[in-house]
Amino acid sequence: MDYSNLVDFYKKLGSTQSSLEKTAILSDLFSGRDDRELEILVKLCMGRIFSAWKDEDIGISSKLMVKALKKVSGSGEKAINQEWKSTGDLGETAENILGRKRQQTFAVSKLTVEKVHENLKEIADFEGSGSQSRKIDNISEILSMAKPEEAKYIVRTVLRNMRLGVGEGIVRDAILEAFFPSILEITEASEEKFNGKRVLVGKKVSQKFLEEKRDVEHETFDFELSEMSEIDFDRFDFIVLDKSDAKNLYSYLKEAVQHGYDVTNDFGDVAVTAKNKGIKGLRGLEMKIFRPVNAMLAKKVDTIGEGFETVGKPAGVDYKYDGMRAQIHKKGDEVKIFTRRLDDVTEQFPDVEKAVKEFVDTDECIIDSEIVAYDPDDGSMVPFQRLSKRIKRKYDIEDIVNKIPVEVRPFDILYLRKALIKEKYSERFLKLEKIVEEKEGVIRLVDRIVTDDEEDVNAMQQRSLSEGQEGIMMKNLDAEYKPGSRVGYMVKLKPVMETLDLVIIGAEWSEGRRSGWLGSLTMGCRDEDGNYLEVGKLATGLTDEQLEEITNRLEPLIVEEDGRQVKVSPEVVVEAEFEEIQKSPTYTSGFALRFPRLKRFRDDKEDADSIEKVARLYKSQN
Ligand code: ATP
Repeated sequence: MDYSNLVDFYKKLGSTQSSLEKTAILSDLFSGRDDRELEILVKLCMGRIFSAWKDEDIGISSKLMVKALKKVSGSGEKAINQEWKSTGDLGETAENILGRKRQQTFAVSKLTVEKVHENLKEIADFEGSGSQSRKIDNISEILSMAKPEEAKYIVRTVLRNMRLGVGEGIVRDAILEAFFPSILEITEASEEKFNGKRVLVGKKVSQKFLEEKRDVEHETFDFELSEMSEIDFDRFDFIVLDKSDAKNLYSYLKEAVQHGYDVTNDFGDVAVTAKNKGIKGLRGLEMKIFRPVNAMLAKKVDTIGEGFETVGKPAGVDYKYDGMRAQIHKKGDEVKIFTRRLDDVTEQFPDVEKAVKEFVDTDECIIDSEIVAYDPDDGSMVPFQRLSKRIKRKYDIEDIVNKIPVEVRPFDILYLRKALIKEKYSERFLKLEKIVEEKEGVIRLVDRIVTDDEEDVNAMQQRSLSEGQEGIMMKNLDAEYKPGSRVGYMVKLKPVMETLDLVIIGAEWSEGRRSGWLGSLTMGCRDEDGNYLEVGKLATGLTDEQLEEITNRLEPLIVEEDGRQVKVSPEVVVEAEFEEIQKSPTYTSGFALRFPRLKRFRDDKEDADSIEKVARLYKSQN
C-alpha cells in the first residue's frame, strides 16, 4: 500500500471528533487488506511501531529528529528550530521545510507503508557506538522519499504523537465493523441499504421483513446466542434482528474481539484472526507465555460494607502491599518479569528470577504478584519509592539486590499449562497455592483470609496498616480475571486521602536561578478515548533535585516548543497530592487541582487516572 494512501486516512481521522466516524474510517482502512498489511496498519493507526506487548522502543527524541530533518532538507538546525517554534509541531515543521525544498526537486520515488514500517522497526535494534547516526540514516531515507505531508505523519509516528484520537475502543469497534456483518434492528432496515447485499434475517422478525421488503433476497435463521460461533458470518453483509437480539449479538461479537485483545495484547493479531477465522478464531485465541497481558485493576471503595457490596460475600481479603506489580512468566527454566507497563525487568530482578525458578513448581505458568522491598537489617517493609530505584537500574545490579532485597508475594495465577483467566478466582488461588513453595524473604503467598464478616476484615485492615502496608484488597471469589479492566472484581480499601496518578503533558522552562530546568508541569487525566485532559499545573514545592530529574525525563519527550512553554509526549506518570478539586473553565477537563504536590513518580504505570475518577473525587468532597 502506498504511504500516501494511508496519509489520506490519517487526514480523515484527524478531521473528525466523532468516535463513530473514526470507527467507520478505520474499518474502511482495514477492509480488504492482506494479512501483513493489516497487521502493520493496525499498529500505525494507533501510532505504534511494535505490538503493545513488545518491550521495544525506537528511542528517538525530538532533538534527533531535528538532526534527521537537517540532513534531508539541507536547512540549518536553527532554521528548523525556528519553524518548530512557530508551528509548535515538529511534524508540521517537517511538512513545511520539505515543502519548500521540494519545489526545486521532483521525481520522488513512491513510499510504501511497508517501507516506512520496516525502516522504523529496524531502528530499535541499533545499539552502541554509531547507533545515533544509523538511526538518523534510517529516518532520513524514508523522509527523503516522502512527500511533505507524508513526512508530517512519519515524524509524528516517530515521536509517538499522532494527534488522531484513535484509542483502543475505536480500534476494537473498527475491527468488528470491518470483519463482521452490520447488525440492524428491524426498524432500521431500509431497502436501499440492502441493494445487492447479502442479508440474514432472524426468524422472529422475518415475517415483518417480508411484508416490508418483499424484494430483498435474504436467508433466515433462528437466532440463538449459544450457537453464534457456528454461523458463517463471512457470507453476509447485514444481519437483521429484533431490538434485544440485535443488542445481544452486538455485545457478543464485541466481547469476542475484546477477548482476543485481552489475551493477545495485540490488535494486529486480533484483526487478522477476525478476518480469516471469524468468531471461532477469536474465541480460540489464547494467552502465550512471555507475551504479557494487561493487569486487572482494582476499583476503590471507602468502606468495608461497600467492598462486600461490590465483590460479594464471602470475599478474599488480602493485604495491599506498597510494592511493585509484577507479572511473572515461567517456561521450563526460563523466567521473565514484567511491570505493570509491560516492561521486561528480568535483568533488574535476578533475585526474583531465581526465586521463581527455585520455588514455583511447574514448567509453565503466569503469576500475578506484588514485589515488596524490605530492610535487610530488620526485615521491616520499605516503601515503593525506594524499591523503584531498582526498576530502571542498568549497572551494579548485584549491589542493589543486596541493598534493597525483595520478597515476591503472588496473589493470582493466569496460566498453568493452559490459560486460567476464565476460571473462578477461588479456583485459581487453589492452583496457585499448590505450586508455590513458601520461603520467608524470598517468596510467600499474600497474607489473605476468606470471610464474610466485617469484623474480620477490619482486623485484617488494622494489621496491614500497623505493619506499614497500604490497606487491603477485597476480591470476588467467583470472578474471572479480566486483563486491563477495572471491573470491580477486586477492590482496594485505603484509609489515606486519595491521590491522582496523572500524566505530564506540558511544562515550562523556568526563569532566574532555575533557568535551564523544566518546571510548572501541566498534568493530564485520561478520557475514555485515551486523550489527555488538563487538570492543572504543578508548580510549587518542587526541590532542585526533583526539577533536575523532571528535566532529564521530559527533555527527550518534547514534541512542541512555544517560547518557554513546551508540550511533551504523555509518558511520565506522577502521583499528585492536592488539597481539593475545584471546577475550572481554565483546563480542558473542567477541573483544577488546588495546591497540587508531587508525591512520587509512578514508573510502574503507563496511564493516568480517568476523568471519571477526577469527577468522582470532586463529588466525594461535598
Ligand atoms: P494504587 O495507586 O492505589 O497502588 P494503582 O492505581 O497502582 O493503585 P490499582 O489497580 O488501583 O492500581 O490498585 C491495585 C494495585 O495494588 C495493584 O496494581 C498492585 O500493584 C497493588 N497490590 C498490592 N497488594 C495487592 C494484592 N494483594 N492484590 C492485588 N493487588 C495488590
